[in-house]
Amino acid sequence: MTDDLLARHRAVLPSWVAPYYGADAIELVSGSGRHVTDASGRTYLDFFGGVLTNMLGYDVAEIREAVEKQLATGIVHSSTLYLIRQQVELAEKIARVSGIPDARVFFTNSGTEANEAALLFATNARRSNQVLAIRNSYHGRSFGAMAVTGHRSWSVSGLSPLTVSWLSSGDRLRGRMTGLSDADFVDAAVEDLREVIATTTAGDIAALIAEPIQGVGGFVHGPDGLLGALKKELDNHGILLIADEVQTGWGRTGDHFWGYQAHDVQPDLITFAKGIGNGFALAGVVGRADLLDAVPGTSFSTFGGNPISTAAGSAVLDYVLDHDLQANAARTGTILLDGLRAVAAGSAIVAEVRGRGLMIGLEICRPGTTEPDTAATMRIFDECRRGGLLVGKGGLYGNVLRMGPPLTLTEDEARAGLAILTEAIRTAEGS
Ligand code: PMP
Repeated sequence: MTDDLLARHRAVLPSWVAPYYGADAIELVSGSGRHVTDASGRTYLDFFGGVLTNMLGYDVAEIREAVEKQLATGIVHSSTLYLIRQQVELAEKIARVSGIPDARVFFTNSGTEANEAALLFATNARRSNQVLAIRNSYHGRSFGAMAVTGHRSWSVSGLSPLTVSWLSSGDRLRGRMTGLSDADFVDAAVEDLREVIATTTAGDIAALIAEPIQGVGGFVHGPDGLLGALKKELDNHGILLIADEVQTGWGRTGDHFWGYQAHDVQPDLITFAKGIGNGFALAGVVGRADLLDAVPGTSFSTFGGNPISTAAGSAVLDYVLDHDLQANAARTGTILLDGLRAVAAGSAIVAEVRGRGLMIGLEICRPGTTEPDTAATMRIFDECRRGGLLVGKGGLYGNVLRMGPPLTLTEDEARAGLAILTEAIRTAEGS
């Protein structure tokens, strides 16, 4: 059954739309809570949530009811030519939680479009197409978003509407920042920023776009306070800060509601997507009114912020806040992080356990080195599936296992997932 579907998938979709697990690709047919069931009837604990998108998990009554209520009105779509109550309400809520005074919100359908819109607002306001980005970043798959994506496998075209200069990533396992303390890292990064501005730009840069924790890049992040230190230098030049919170937003990092809040900084623009729709296509930008309002003509997204997706998004945000899922992410994330660090201490192949809250990466290397080991990564990945746990992969070298479970994860589920991961690492190491 799944084989048939895989053959049909391969016959009709581009080769690079490649499902996990190769010939054993999974078709998910139902889900409940943090569990999903495949076409063969096998149930898995899901630690990847459709790439950090099923933020509340599966079959959540409050979200279903909000969407069904909107469906029952007969209005699935109206366009912003007419007032959309759900959109206005969600925008009010997002503006309130953004931390940006008197913010405006523009809704799109995807994180890519959100970043494209933020880049439009910043480049328009600054009358410059020069942008700073971070190596090892991922921001999407349009020409603009790809241009600021510092990750060879995802930046598949060199055509660019932007002139981009690159800053160092938070990687301290290898490269120029290897082994630096937090304070030395921040100093080196600010020095690097000054040098990049002085040597690779014409000076009038529009913005820096940064993920507080790099998602696709394997949950790499710099020390707390880094973005704040960089922003002080950016402010000397009037350069705006765009925080891409597509993966880090809504409390996932546990300690903070937004990833940027670990950095003592106020972004000018924040982009969001993934989790806020819990699977419904919903994304956007929240930012300073003067930047959003300054677009010199009309801009429009047909489906962006439609009544169905914003009804879902509003229910999702209420759920996150009402159930204090940020605190749950901190609690269950600590179980996972502590447990994995204990496993790593006794493992020669886990070079680093990193992340925060429910955003956790395991970097897998050849024993005792920082040489990426994709074969061992794949063994752990496959063993997890065999043990009934879905996880993700990522990182520049494809050697990072990524976990981004729903924020509703229970402590028991965290322990159950940890046990499967522990076993998978031991098996992979022994084989
Ligand atoms: N920014 C980040 C940080 C992302 O992780 C992603 C998606 N992986 C995007 C932007 C693009 O979002 P989308 O796939 O919804 O276009």
